[in-house]
Amino acid sequence: MNKDTVQDGLVVSMEYTLSVDGEVLDSSQDAPPLQFLAGYDNIVPGLEREMIGMKIGESKNVVVSPSDGYGEFDEDAFMEVPRGDFPDDMEVEIGMELGISDEDGNHQMAFIESFDEKTVRLDFNHPLAGAELHFTIKVVDLREPTSEELEHGHVHEEGHHHD
Ligand code: ZN
Repeated sequence: MNKDTVQDGLVVSMEYTLSVDGEVLDSSQDAPPLQFLAGYDNIVPGLEREMIGMKIGESKNVVVSPSDGYGEFDEDAFMEVPRGDFPDDMEVEIGMELGISDEDGNHQMAFIESFDEKTVRLDFNHPLAGAELHFTIKVVDLREPTSEELEHGHVHEEGHHHD
């Protein structure tokens, strides 16, 4: 197999800038390139699809629609939770990110949208739901994953260890 283009099962290093509505939200500038394992849902699907087949050194502008990015904004993805369900000593703040597990053990991220003395309103939309994502990317390296990375389905950055 030819391993000098971006394809599933290779670790891709890339420089990137992410802009939404003309505002830069995230960039690898002044940081090491971002690494991801292609084919394992490590980055938004619309970006990964456009990167398949790119060579080292190649740059591209990619526009990703919400459905291929962080999802459409869902008006129904809100939930009201009694204030009493939160620990007394927890300071509840608007915008706070929470990890919520349901009865089946499914884990989801939510943000506190608003609250009063009785109720906390949670927003399960991703902060970038509904946004058109504008990426400028450059492929800077490609390599084979280690067997452990392949098993886990993600990249282990140098110096980063976990179980
Ligand atoms: Zn791992």
